[in-house]
Amino acid sequence: MKNITILGSTGSIGVQALNVIDTHQDKFNLIGISANQNIDLLIKQAKLYSPKYVCIVDESYKKELCNSLDLGRYKVLSGRSGLLELASINDADVMLNALVGASGMEPTIHSINSGINIALSNKESLVMAGEIINSRLDSMGVKIYPVDSEHSAIWQCLVGEKNKQINKIILTGSGGPFRTKKISEFNMINKEQALKHPNWSMGNKITIDSSTMMNKGLELIEAYWLFPINFDKIDIVIHPESIIHSMVEFVDGSVKAQLGVPSMEIPIQYALTYPDRIISNCEKLDLTKVKSLNFEKPDLEKFKCIDLAYKSIKKGGSFPVVLNVANDILVDYFLNDKIQFLDIPNIIEGTLAAHDFIKDITLDDINYLTGWTQRYIQEEIHD
Ligand code: MN
Repeated sequence: MKNITILGSTGSIGVQALNVIDTHQDKFNLIGISANQNIDLLIKQAKLYSPKYVCIVDESYKKELCNSLDLGRYKVLSGRSGLLELASINDADVMLNALVGASGMEPTIHSINSGINIALSNKESLVMAGEIINSRLDSMGVKIYPVDSEHSAIWQCLVGEKNKQINKIILTGSGGPFRTKKISEFNMINKEQALKHPNWSMGNKITIDSSTMMNKGLELIEAYWLFPINFDKIDIVIHPESIIHSMVEFVDGSVKAQLGVPSMEIPIQYALTYPDRIISNCEKLDLTKVKSLNFEKPDLEKFKCIDLAYKSIKKGGSFPVVLNVANDILVDYFLNDKIQFLDIPNIIEGTLAAHDFIKDITLDDINYLTGWTQRYIQEEIHD
C-alpha cells in the first residue's frame, strides 16, 4: 500500500487521480486531500475516502468543513499554512501536487524538505524554481515523478537508457484550438473559444495556456529541469491528434515514442505506481481508428508565448519566474474578461523587458519577483 496525499483534489487532475485510486483500492491509501474553495466536493471526497487530513485553503469555508466532518476521525487543516502542513505530512509515500499556477511551488519545496516523493502535475514549480528544486532533490533523497503527459512520455522512453546517449527530446503538442486560425483573427478570440480544447479535457488555466501555447513554453522549461539535456536540444513539434505524447531521439538516430489515448489517467497512474505498470480502465489505443498521425512545426509568430518561454530559459535566473507569474495573472484577467487574447503574450513580453534581471535567484527573490510582477501588471492594465 502506498500512502498518497493529493494537493488540489477537487481540480481536474485531482479528480482523475481519485478515479485511479478508486480502481486500485488494494494499492493506494489516501491520507490527505485539499481544495481551494470547492467545499462541497471536498466534503464529498472526505466522506467517501476517509483521509486523515482534509484541508480547505479558503478560510471562509473552514467552519462549514468542521461542521460537516466527525472531528474525531478527521484532522481539518486550513489556509495557506494548512496546505503547506499537508505537503509536509511525512506519512505520505507520494504527494501528488495537482495545484494550479505559481501557488504550487511552495508546497513542492515543503514536500522535498520533508523527504516526500512528488508526483508533479504543477509544472509551474519547476518553471519558477527548477534550479533550487533540483539542488535539494539529491540532498534530500527525493524523487519527482512527472504527471504532465509529455514529460511522463519522455520519462517512459528513458527507462533503461543512458542519459549521455540522449540526442534530442521531441516535445509534442496538439497546437490547441487556434492552430489553423489566421493571426489577423486572433484579436477577436473570446474566452469561450479559448476554453474549447480539441483533444484534452483540463482545468481552465491550462486550457487557456494551451490556446496561447504558453503551455508548451512552460513544458519546454519543465523538460529542461526534469531531464539532463540542454534547452537547444528540446524540439517542439505540433501533432494535432495527441496520440504520441512525446519522443526521445538517441545518438544512434533511433527514436522512441510513447503513445496512448489522450487521457491524463495513464500518466497519473504511472507516476503513482512507478516502476510498476498496473491495469487501467482507460480506453485502449486503436491506431486503425486514428488512421493518420500528422506533424508540423509550431508557428512562433502566431504563438509568441513559445518564443518568450524559450528566450526566458535561455536567459535563466529571474526570467522564467516573471514569465510564469505574469502568465498566471494575465490568464486570470482574460478569464475575467479584463483583457484581450493577444494582451497575454504582449503584456508578458513588456513585463519581462521591464524587470530588473537577477541571475542567481533564491526563494526570497522569487517572492520579491512575484510581488513586483503583480504590481507592474496591475499598473499597466489600469493605465
Ligand atoms: Mn502537458
